[in-house]
Amino acid sequence: MSLKALRTHFTGEIVPDADNGKTVTLAGWVHEIRDLGGITFLVLRDRTGRAQVTLVKKKIDAELLEIVKRMSRESVVTVTGTVKAEPKAPNGFELLPDSITVVNEAGSPLPMDTTGKVDAELDTRLDNRFMDLRREEQTAVFIIRDTVQKAIRDFLEQNKFVETTTSKIVAAATEGGTDLFPINYFDREAFLNQSPQLFKQMLMSAGLDRVYEIGPIFRAEEHDTRKHLNEATSIDIEMSFADHEDVMELLENMIVYVYEQVVEKCQKSIDILGIELHVPKLPFNKYTYEQVLDIINNEIPEIEDKMEFGDDIGTQAEHLFGEYVFNKTGESHYFIIDWPTETKPFYAMPYEDRPEISKSFDMMHRMMELSSGAQRVHQHDLLVERIEAKGLNPDGFEFYLKTFRYGMPPHSGFGVGAERLVMTMLNLDNIREAVLFPRDRKRLSP
Ligand code: ATP
Ligand code: MN
Repeated sequence: MSLKALRTHFTGEIVPDADNGKTVTLAGWVHEIRDLGGITFLVLRDRTGRAQVTLVKKKIDAELLEIVKRMSRESVVTVTGTVKAEPKAPNGFELLPDSITVVNEAGSPLPMDTTGKVDAELDTRLDNRFMDLRREEQTAVFIIRDTVQKAIRDFLEQNKFVETTTSKIVAAATEGGTDLFPINYFDREAFLNQSPQLFKQMLMSAGLDRVYEIGPIFRAEEHDTRKHLNEATSIDIEMSFADHEDVMELLENMIVYVYEQVVEKCQKSIDILGIELHVPKLPFNKYTYEQVLDIINNEIPEIEDKMEFGDDIGTQAEHLFGEYVFNKTGESHYFIIDWPTETKPFYAMPYEDRPEISKSFDMMHRMMELSSGAQRVHQHDLLVERIEAKGLNPDGFEFYLKTFRYGMPPHSGFGVGAERLVMTMLNLDNIREAVLFPRDRKRLSP
C-alpha cells in the first residue's frame, strides 16, 4: 500500500451531514486519550483540526481498545472507520473505528505539552519548536503567514511585478553601517546581505521596470527586542517611472488586499487565535515628519524626550504617537512622510526645493514601523554626492554607481518586514512567534 493511501481525508475535510455513514481513513497525531470506563475517546489531530474517535467498550473489538489504551500521546496513527454526525463532538462528527494502526510511536515524557493546558515559556517552546508548532494556535499563525505571502505575490503579479531573487552574499554593505554579519568567502571577507536595496535598483537600470523579492535579510543588531530578528524576511519592491506617492499608494493597497485575503481565506485560523481583524481603511493617514515633531512636542505631554528636526523618533514616542493616531482616527496604519534627508539612507531623493527633507516615508502600525520607502536618487552625480555626505566612499559602490551612468530611469520602492506584518496583524506579543525557527542574539538552533 502506498503511504498516500494511509489517509483518505484530512479531519477538516469531513462534512458531518454529507459524509455521515461514509468510511474514511484519517492520519495524524494522538492528541489525547480519555478513558471514561465504558467509553474511550481517542482525539486524533492533523493540520486541519481534530477528530474524536469513539470506542464503546461493549460494542468494540477488545483488541482495538487495547491498542488505544497502550498508545502514547503524540504517536502517529491512522484510523479507518465510519463517520457519524455528532453535534457535541469537535467539528460535529465522531469516527467509529474499524481499524487503528500505530505508525510510529512517540516517546514519553514529551518535551513539552501540546494540549495548551500548560503554559510553556517562549524559550522552551522555541527549543522544541517542532512540537510547539503542533499546537493549533501556532499552526494558525503559519497558515495565515502562508496566505499573507501568497496574497502579496498575487497582488504584485496583478500589478505587473516580476519576482526576482538576488544574492545574499555580498562584498559591500548596502548602506555602510556596522550591523553586518561577516563571512569567509574563500580567501576574502564577504557579508550576508542586509537588504536587496542596491540589487533591486540595479534591476531598474536593467529594464525590468517593476520587481519584487520576498527573501531573507541579515542584520547583526545587538539589541534584544520584541520586534527585531537577526534574520528577517523582507518584502521588497522597486518600481520605475513612479514617485514616492505612487509607491505609497501601491503599499497601502497591498496591505488592504492582504488583510482582505486573510479575512476571506483564514476565518478558522482567526477564530483559533481569538482575534478580530480590522481591514484598514484607504487611504492611510499621512503625517509629515515635521507634523509628527510638532504633535510630539506640543500635544503628547507623556513623551519625555522632546525632539528637534533631524532626531529619530524613539520607541516611546513611536508608541505614544501611534496611540494618538489610533485615538484620533480609529486606524492603526498610517504614514510618516518627508523625513529629514540626513536621517534617511543616501539613496533617498531630496526635494528639489527643500533638500533638507526627502521624498521618503515610513509606513507605521500603531506599535512599530512596518515599512520604509522612498523615491530614489537616479542621477549619478547627485548619488555620489549623497554617498559622500554620509561619510561613505563611492569607490566601494562602483558596481552600483555604474548602472546609473548608462540609462537609469527614475524609480521608487519600499521594503516591508514580513514578520512584523504578521505580528501586528495577529497581535502577537513577540516577533519570534511569527518565525518558524527564529534567529536572535542568543538563538542559533534549532
Ligand atoms: P527599525 O528602525 O524598526 O529597526 P529599520 O528602519 O532599521 O527598522 P529598514 O532598514 O527600514 O528597517 O527595513 C525595512 C523593514 O524591514 C522595516 O520597516 C521592518 O519591517 C523590517 N525589518 C528591518 N530590520 C528588521 C529586523 N531586525 N527584524 C525584523 N524586521 C526588520
Ligand atoms: Mn526603516
